[in-house]
Amino acid sequence: MEQNKKTHLSFEVFPPKKDEEFDNVYQILRQLKELNPDFISCTYGAGGSRAGKTIEITSFIQNELKIDAIAHITCVGFTREDLHKNCEALQEAGVSHVLALRGDRPKTMSDEQYDSREFYYASDLVRHLKEYTGLRISGACYPEKHFEAPSLKEDLLHLKEKVDAGVTSLISQMFFDNNYFYRFLDKARAMGIHVPVHAGIMPITTAKQLGTTVSLSGSSVPKELADLIATYGEDKEDMRKAGIDYAVRQIRDLKEHGVDGIHIYSMNKVKTTTEICGMI
Ligand code: FAD
Repeated sequence: MEQNKKTHLSFEVFPPKKDEEFDNVYQILRQLKELNPDFISCTYGAGGSRAGKTIEITSFIQNELKIDAIAHITCVGFTREDLHKNCEALQEAGVSHVLALRGDRPKTMSDEQYDSREFYYASDLVRHLKEYTGLRISGACYPEKHFEAPSLKEDLLHLKEKVDAGVTSLISQMFFDNNYFYRFLDKARAMGIHVPVHAGIMPITTAKQLGTTVSLSGSSVPKELADLIATYGEDKEDMRKAGIDYAVRQIRDLKEHGVDGIHIYSMNKVKTTTEICGMI
């Protein structure tokens, strides 16, 4: 891999559940700006709930903070008309970059509703956005394969279709063992996927967080991380320090390998994110 090139830095934030927490998010974003990220992305609730909040937050990032904003959008739970309205609203708000996702099925959604979505895979959404909007489009990728894919090879074939449909950069699912990322990247490049890939890093600062994260992402937990939880899990501050140290070591190694970008799943935790950035 190429060394000594600039590694991009980016963060992911999520819209707070309660309206009264909005001011706090803006405060967090102002502090994240101090860390000079190349972009900040904002998630979309499962099934597209609170879509308007993603627009508000990305508009703030783009227009107030003058940082490239990426708005996540999903197919699940949306009609073609909803999507058009959402994309128009984004563009009117000055946001021109989206992360086009299929989305996951919310627990409350019926089979019928889930299966009747207009865009079945993210690549179908990408094709549509490419044809009908001027938006810049990024996509998601999975170093350890997506949980539904029968193999990494098959997942990569579909990833290639997604990139060929118009995705210009990829953000990876979180991973805790860099070897998975390097293996994935080698295979992706060999398959002709040459867009920048931003490596997703989730700092694990509590034992509970690891359980939730793993069940949601399907990422495997290396022995070193499991041992760290076993050793420090009971002590809040020691666990936080150990989790930050683990993420920092992961990032340093990725940078030494010349990866395109580091995407920190900040979970709106500005103190942790700032400490990590101070050490890399
Ligand atoms: P796709 O690219 O459509 O892939 C889904 C599965 O379908 C894969 O197994 C793939 O191999 C397979 N596939 C694709 N094309 C075909 C085909 N033609 N034939 C057969 N199989 C095919 N979810 C949210 O709800 N909101 C968010 O804000 C959000 N942000 C995310 C950010 C990142 C960086 C990542 C990595 C994930 C995020 N997710 C989010 C979760 C995401 O929605 C889920 O992981 C979802 O299950 C897959 O989305 P996708 O866009 O990767 O799907």
